[in-house]
Amino acid sequence: MISRFAKSFVAIVVALLLLTTITFLHPPSRTYIDPWSGALLGEDGMEQSLRTSKTKLPILGAEGGVIMPKLGNATAKAALGRATWKLLHTMTLRYPEKPTQDERDALGSYFHLLSRLYPCGECAAEFQMLLEKYPPQTSSRRSASLWLCSVHNAVNERLHKEPFDCAHLDDTYDCGCGDEPIGTTAPSGSEGEDAVVSMMRGGR
Ligand SMILES: Cc1cc2nc3c(=O)[nH]c(=O)nc-3n(C[C@H](O)[C@H](O)[C@H](O)COP(=O)(O)OP(=O)(O)OC[C@H]3O[C@@H](n4cnc5c(N)ncnc54)[C@H](O)[C@@H]3O)c2cc1C
Repeated sequence: MISRFAKSFVAIVVALLLLTTITFLHPPSRTYIDPWSGALLGEDGMEQSLRTSKTKLPILGAEGGVIMPKLGNATAKAALGRATWKLLHTMTLRYPEKPTQDERDALGSYFHLLSRLYPCGECAAEFQMLLEKYPPQTSSRRSASLWLCSVHNAVNERLHKEPFDCAHLDDTYDCGCGDEPIGTTAPSGSEGEDAVVSMMRGGR
């Protein structure tokens, strides 16, 4: 007959074993955000590179039709457009020069999700058609930036606006972030750039 003390002892040991296993196996318990510095810390207290931290969520819903309704207010539509172009151009100009496959997938998915969720439904529908005709170029900072510049020019053309000279991307969107300008990062002719160049020459 096992004494009550022995039973309690075994129960405590099992509980401790379980707790230790969960602590070591469950990833969220090994990383935390320092409330003072805001730094993302790993299990050894080292700051994790935000670039290598991985989201566990699969990217779903990138394919499909436009979700948003028509945006009737022309002033709101223009303001939204200017703000969005600023975001998108700044994003592609800060995109890695040599992206990993995961980073390339992320950028491609981003544009496809945007084409569904952009808050101006009729603009989103046009954007979807552009993405189908000119799939996002994600092989480098340079090809992504030039691709987006060309897509923006395609929208400009449809709206009867002057085309933008894509050679001026670096000056127009210099965020003071110290990034390498696209004008010097890669020789032209790299993967994906040929498509962009032919698009810029009017191959649409
Ligand atoms: C994805 C998307 C689709 C849109 N579709 C429509 C639509 O179907 N109908 C509609 O009415 N509006 C649409 N818009 C909004 C439209 O493109 C403009 O943003 C809006 O008309 C305001 O124009 P803007 O003249 O102020 O300059 P914007 O076109 O907003 O450009 C802002 C600034 O970006 C710079 N710029 C211009 N062209 C380029 C380029 N090619 N590359 C880099 N920088 C450039 C210039 O400095 C310009 O002042 C869309 C916007 C987006 C983001």
